[in-house]
Amino acid sequence: MSEYEIVVAGAGIWGCTVARGLAEAGQRVLVLEKRSAVGGNVRCETDADTGIEIHTYGSHIFHTHLPEVWKFINRFAEFNGYQHKVLANYKGRIYSLPLGLAMINKFFGVELKPSEVDAFMKNEAHSSALFDAFFRGYTSKQWGRPPEAIDPSIIRRVPVRSNYDTNYFNDYNQGIPLAGYNSVFDRMLDHPNITVACGRAFSLDDLAEFSRASVFYSGPVDALFGYSFGHLPWRTLRFERETLDLPDYQGTSVVNYTEAEVPYTRIHEFKHYHPEGLLNGTWGFNAKKTVIMREYPATWKPGDEPYYPVDCEESRTLLSKYQDAARKYPNLVIGGRLGGYKYYDMDQSIAAALETVAGFLK
Ligand code: UDP
Repeated sequence: MSEYEIVVAGAGIWGCTVARGLAEAGQRVLVLEKRSAVGGNVRCETDADTGIEIHTYGSHIFHTHLPEVWKFINRFAEFNGYQHKVLANYKGRIYSLPLGLAMINKFFGVELKPSEVDAFMKNEAHSSALFDAFFRGYTSKQWGRPPEAIDPSIIRRVPVRSNYDTNYFNDYNQGIPLAGYNSVFDRMLDHPNITVACGRAFSLDDLAEFSRASVFYSGPVDALFGYSFGHLPWRTLRFERETLDLPDYQGTSVVNYTEAEVPYTRIHEFKHYHPEGLLNGTWGFNAKKTVIMREYPATWKPGDEPYYPVDCEESRTLLSKYQDAARKYPNLVIGGRLGGYKYYDMDQSIAAALETVAGFLK
């Protein structure tokens, strides 16, 4: 094992980008992945019954405004041009997210023009009614605390517009890989300087074994240090999957259920991520059936998958203790959504990894 100059522990999007970048710079890279397959939580599976690509860990839509990230990912994927739109079900009625003219006009039964939105929303009764319907309940379910108790940047991820643009993201580059997400990771790691070992967890003891290598770790930072300072708080997700004898259940890929009384936050229907299948008349899989997945957020406990870092006073203090501990290992670099404890989108993970690679090679 000592012939490797680089060990990448964790083969999610950050780890795979680091591995590729360093391999292309001539380094010999060993990738260790705890799970039986690479791809982290972007990993997908093909449903045996219907042939539909299921995003095992919830919907992943690639979107970015960063040219270098778009250029990088396009070396390993051809995208299908899918543009993400999200509907909201509030008390049985369907509205278009994000907050814009389509939503406002339907919710209030008005016909506002773009120039009238600002004044309308300055009225406290209007803005509170919209916030309570679409953000209060969903946020409480998602984060296990009221919106006032979370960092405002989290809700600001959702755009606010005064037009009829219902694109869920402001990023002009979007899509789903035509050949599926798993092929992207396979292609990223397909390099003569990269060796991949799956089913191989990484622990602090391994740092001694790989003392001559530089180690890039992207698992949860508290797990690496045996939770010695305590558990970092995470939100986890539970998914309930169902195959239905219907060609189409909800007519779109994601519907958010925004009221607190519905126990799940959203329903994913994966066949809608491949509109190219719809266009050629086959959907690329069994058109008579569809697969949906209900998403239930919960507080993370040991044994659960960590999904969302919880940015709060307690987690910041704990995180800095782990980061101080990590600094004692000069050959250790920690990053990614889990390692960095950052609410990264896929493109931000790639951008961070490219920066890490550039910094390392300097
Ligand atoms: N949010 C909400 N209602 C919605 C959609 C989002 O209240 O219908 C809030 C919620 O707090 C969520 C945050 O906005 O955690 C960010 O939403 P996003 O869709 O970006 O979350 P993700 O897809 O990363 O889970």
